[in-house]
Amino acid sequence: MKVEKPEKYNHRSLVVGIYNKLFDEFGKQNWWPAETPFEVVVGALLTQQTKWQNVEEAIKNLKQRGLMDAESIASSDIELLEETIYCTGFYRQKAKRLKQISTFFSENKMEEVFSLPLDELRNTLLSLNGVGPETADSIILYAANRQKFVIDVYTKRIMKCLGIEGNYSQLQELFEKNLPDDVDVYKEYHALIVEYAKKYCVKKKCDICPLTGEFNGPDYL
Ligand code: SF4
Repeated sequence: MKVEKPEKYNHRSLVVGIYNKLFDEFGKQNWWPAETPFEVVVGALLTQQTKWQNVEEAIKNLKQRGLMDAESIASSDIELLEETIYCTGFYRQKAKRLKQISTFFSENKMEEVFSLPLDELRNTLLSLNGVGPETADSIILYAANRQKFVIDVYTKRIMKCLGIEGNYSQLQELFEKNLPDDVDVYKEYHALIVEYAKKYCVKKKCDICPLTGEFNGPDYL
């Protein structure tokens, strides 16, 4: 889906303009690739500081061992869990965190947690060990299907290249204030940014960067 672009230069036209440009180039991304909301939670934790391919392998291992539900992980042997997610790196720390978040969701119904008022839901997730803003917002957006814009390192980098800098909350507010109330747009946008960054930023193709070629952040301030 495309978003109607306002005529005037302002933050909204920048945010919407970037989205439409990325959507034109990459199309619908259909994120997050997971069979259940709990699998999104697991993926969001495991993806910290590693490539998505490693997370896919770990998820495959967890499924093969019957460990893709909160109760099974909560009651699993920690060494078995460490071995199962070894490929994602920081496996000891991640196994401990995975067990803790699984214990939380085995003691609290996921649908009830995900129905909490948005701020309360976010604070609840942030109170769990190993869940920072990006992980919490990924869970809120892709597992709970609620509107929270995810800011990752790629988003910060792209906005900086366009002349806009800010901390996590400031950038999140910039996107949330200027996007339509549509959870699918939020989901697609973050996925498109990751796709874009993998194709251009990570490969250092700055000389042919389509975004800096078309948008100049300060023009929109
Ligand atoms: S391709 Fe280079 S210039 Fe363009 S947004 Fe990425 S890092 Fe910035």
